[in-house]
Amino acid sequence: MDLTRYVNTFGNYLRQKYGEPIHKLSVNADFTCPNRDGTKGIGGCSFCNNNSFSPASTKAGSVTAQLHAARTRVEQVRKARRFIAYFQSYSNTYGEIERLKALYDEALAADEIIGLAIGTRPDCVPDPVLALLADYQQQGHEIWLELGLQSSFDTSLERINRGHTFADYEDAVQRAHHFGLNLCTHLIMGIPGETAKDTLTSYQRVLDLGVKAIKIHPLHIVKGTQLAREWKQGLVPDLTMDDYVNTVVEIIKTAPKELLFHRLTGSGAHQYLLAPDWVKHKWDILGAIYAGLVNH
Ligand code: SF4
Repeated sequence: MDLTRYVNTFGNYLRQKYGEPIHKLSVNADFTCPNRDGTKGIGGCSFCNNNSFSPASTKAGSVTAQLHAARTRVEQVRKARRFIAYFQSYSNTYGEIERLKALYDEALAADEIIGLAIGTRPDCVPDPVLALLADYQQQGHEIWLELGLQSSFDTSLERINRGHTFADYEDAVQRAHHFGLNLCTHLIMGIPGETAKDTLTSYQRVLDLGVKAIKIHPLHIVKGTQLAREWKQGLVPDLTMDDYVNTVVEIIKTAPKELLFHRLTGSGAHQYLLAPDWVKHKWDILGAIYAGLVNH
């Protein structure tokens, strides 16, 4: 299965640009987010349990120590020699600019770290943060700002308690473009009340704003979340693998050739997962997407 025959993957983009495989190393820099600390809310997004999607190993230690440990693990199974530091857990631009700079500088200090991927919310990217990231980019680092949007529908954003609107996202994208930053947008399929057509609409709206990359995954219902409680009450219909695969195939087939796909499915920790069960089988999902593309 060679997905790169059909999909402009981020991994392939990096390989072509740098002449070798580049891997992401996750970092947990002990951030929180405004949807948890009371600024926007305290419960967080209804699907969010950060423990379920942050590698267990990135819970402690300095950025340098975490990167070293993650690199050692990756090198045991892959040939990569250079990496991107992925600030993944919570909202990684939510802090004083001096603190952000110190953390990002620490990550970039290692010779093998060629850049940063910064995961955050659309309402957490003030201009000084964008300017800081643009500055790293101008120094030649590979910089990606990853904005969690999940849906372009305000009713859905409210339904999952995101605490921001689509207009917040549009504003963030326009300002990030002003700073010349690479943008990746995260979308979730299977949000309660949404159809496959709604996911396609969200995807199209994101494309229309000119983002360079998307990351899509099926809704995971994980323990310890509001969504889990709703699911147990029968209020959250399970997304089927067929619906998910067919929608992703449709997205890929209609994507402009320059659009990069950072991810085509999720990979959360299984011990937290309640439903749907099929999301545990990443390679089956990717295989089905591949088959869908071959037979399209
Ligand atoms: S998904 Fe992100 S924005 Fe939402 S509560 Fe979790 S960390 Fe905060």
